[in-house]
Amino acid sequence: MTGSKRDTTAPKPSTAPRGWHPDSWREFPVAQGITYPDPAKLAAAVETLRNMPPLVTSWEIERLKKHLADAQEGRRFILQGGDCAETLADTRPRVISAKLKILMQMSLVLVHGSMKPVVRIGRIAGQYAKPRSQPTERGKLADGREVELPNYFGDLVNRAEFTPEARAADPQLLLAGYQHAALTLNFVRSLTEGGFADLHHPEQWDLAFFENAVLPGTLREEYQRTSRQLSEALRFMEALGEKTIDDLTRVEFYTSHEGLNLEYESAQTRTVPRRDQWYDLTTHLPWIGERTRQLDGAHVEFFRGIANPVGVKISASAKPDEVLRLIETLSPDDEPGKIVLITRMGVRRAADALPGLLSAIKASGRRVLWICDPMHGNTQTTSSGRKTRDFGDILREIEITMDAHAAAGTVMGGVHFELTGEDVTECVGGAAGITEGDLEMNYATACDPRLNYRQALEMAFSIARKLRN
Ligand code: PEP
Ligand code: MN
Repeated sequence: MTGSKRDTTAPKPSTAPRGWHPDSWREFPVAQGITYPDPAKLAAAVETLRNMPPLVTSWEIERLKKHLADAQEGRRFILQGGDCAETLADTRPRVISAKLKILMQMSLVLVHGSMKPVVRIGRIAGQYAKPRSQPTERGKLADGREVELPNYFGDLVNRAEFTPEARAADPQLLLAGYQHAALTLNFVRSLTEGGFADLHHPEQWDLAFFENAVLPGTLREEYQRTSRQLSEALRFMEALGEKTIDDLTRVEFYTSHEGLNLEYESAQTRTVPRRDQWYDLTTHLPWIGERTRQLDGAHVEFFRGIANPVGVKISASAKPDEVLRLIETLSPDDEPGKIVLITRMGVRRAADALPGLLSAIKASGRRVLWICDPMHGNTQTTSSGRKTRDFGDILREIEITMDAHAAAGTVMGGVHFELTGEDVTECVGGAAGITEGDLEMNYATACDPRLNYRQALEMAFSIARKLRN
């Protein structure tokens, strides 16, 4: 436990669950735990982080929670997406604006398909920590010696190069991650405030922006038709004197990341004047990953005490009972908009795994928002050792998930993707026909394979068609 002081001038919330405080997780087993070689340096970095301004505000978090509550009831649709792992080096304007732009464009297509407001949530401004299936990795050093080193756990923890120095957990990266998240958010906030995201001019989100990413003709036409219809609808509403249109010069955009490194999350968990609760102010929507959602583990302990909405990844091996206990632990009062269950079953297991889970949670009467992550159950390795995912599998898992919800009488309230606005070649398939042989052209991910710009937009159209039917 780091012996740093907390701000004692803030009111002590009475609403924290019994026995909980921002550091109570330290008493529990930490899955995917990180060993920092120098505890004094870690304590110093955490203390610095505690005193930095928050990245997001409780007002924004509460507003998102209301939107998520609407989505639970089927009144809004959620689009969550971004990199598997952000890197500090990619804190670049073109990369950030391309990511924002593809999410905007997808959301426009989904508004058209779902006839519902779409809430955009980036995996952005903090998605720097990665869980790994093995804590260590064997490999060759520059001098040819074969050694075992800690695995790369994301830029918030260590560096990817295979050297003992790079792979040692470095507490300074907690501060670098915070700073890069702040820089990213600053740019995202400016872009979404006006101009870039003005819904009166969706033609500004034009496709020419992606010079190298020529869309197949049918997709381009479909996108242009969709944006034209939306602008006409807006002009029509304005002609009727609808006042809320002013709001459409800017769009709401929220952030999310996996709350894996509890040093980072807990250091920025605070009370807020006039609110009797603790907030994790690193992001609006933190989630607990598939590998860290143990009921008696540190992550669930930490996340049960904060007022943010909380996501939980759910694989096909999760038992309905276990999921129900997670919901009860994380949201004992069954607060609307609080729990987001992100299912990532895999195309081959979704049809078997979903019905029992959906009906058990429905029968419990608990409020949850179901989101489908069709990426993480569909990772394959090619014969040349590349991780990839097939566009067809990804789409098919969404379709199976929608059908399972329709049959169970529950709502699939959103989708979750690993994607980028860049023209990468990491996932196979889609109209552009990326094959295994193409993967080497631009395989750039720091972790899992992402949909590229064209695949992401095509995915949005395919989902929109299914939502309309
Ligand atoms: C992720 O979202 O990048 C991830 C690791 O997912 P999961 O916890 O579902 O495996
Ligand atoms: Mn991933």
